[in-house]
Amino acid sequence: MDMKTIAGIEVRPGERRYGEIPVTTMAAGHRIHIPVHVIRGVEEGPVVGVVAVQHGHEFSVINIQKQLLEQLDPSQLRGAVVCVPIINAVAFEWASRGGWSDGLWGPHGDIGRLWPGNPQGWLAEKIAHVFSTQVLPDIDVLFDFHGDAPHTRFTDHYIGYGAVDGELGERTANIGRIFGMEIVLRRPLGGTNTLSGYAMSQGKPAFGVELGDFWGLDVERAPDGSGKRKPLTEVGVRGITNVLKHLDMVEGEPELPAYQVEVGGFASVAPAHGGLMIPEVTRKDIGRIFPRDHVLGRIISPYTFEELDILQAPYEENLLVAVRDAEPFTHMQPGGGDLGFSVVDWSSATWTIGNPSNV
Ligand SMILES: [Zn+2]
Repeated sequence: MDMKTIAGIEVRPGERRYGEIPVTTMAAGHRIHIPVHVIRGVEEGPVVGVVAVQHGHEFSVINIQKQLLEQLDPSQLRGAVVCVPIINAVAFEWASRGGWSDGLWGPHGDIGRLWPGNPQGWLAEKIAHVFSTQVLPDIDVLFDFHGDAPHTRFTDHYIGYGAVDGELGERTANIGRIFGMEIVLRRPLGGTNTLSGYAMSQGKPAFGVELGDFWGLDVERAPDGSGKRKPLTEVGVRGITNVLKHLDMVEGEPELPAYQVEVGGFASVAPAHGGLMIPEVTRKDIGRIFPRDHVLGRIISPYTFEELDILQAPYEENLLVAVRDAEPFTHMQPGGGDLGFSVVDWSSATWTIGNPSNV
């Protein structure tokens, strides 16, 4: 086996390489590029891609790639692992969801809804186009990491994918379970304007992984609701490693959790009015079930302090999967990108590992 270009980077068998794929040059000469690490094994095999920071504030998940790159040994690897720690450097510059320049002058801001991009488009569209045409074609299975945004106190915890029929659907469902998170969100495949949706349309199992620290599902918690913290880096590294084992790229058996549920119906609970939001649940409550109308947070006016809105759980039973939980309150806009809370409809849940009613 010789030198080969994988995800735009030239790499020999058993080598690790880092390169930067040019996207464009700004008016003042600053270059925008996509950073790519490739670890190529000594034997041919699948290529697993790991991407982070489409959204510039969700940078905690970069740590998963840092650890993976330290742990993976190319001499013990079949196939290759491609890591892109920051796909959207423009948004990361400001640690905001989108890039300010896209927002100020471009027609769109959120790269997460602009796939597969547009070579004639503005910055986020150009980045998406370069990734779609130069990196993605070499990737067989894709993980798009989102999640914990330390400075906005936003965090969530689940792996999600679009369900499709046939062989691709089956392979995707298997990988989604083997990744080994407790909460697997399986939804009908929406459009192809998300990175994972577009990758699926190209025949590749693809996942949006939303990661923050996790304190467990209700069934694994103490009677007072407290649980044992599972740090996001540990969950992410184990998840990718599980998939590498499943695909026979590294030795060993996947490490699965004691409990795993697959869920469908998903709702974001966003306020009609912005202001200051006082949270009534925190990140430690992610994974717990709340009844209908349970108060998740309240919006008050920053001027008069009167209550403008109450955010309540919409389903009969609600599995909490995302929160913003800054104390004493969070700055909250009326709906839009970064929402207050997300819940899933517990009636859609099926146990895939450890059904507690069988115990
Ligand atoms: Zn995101």
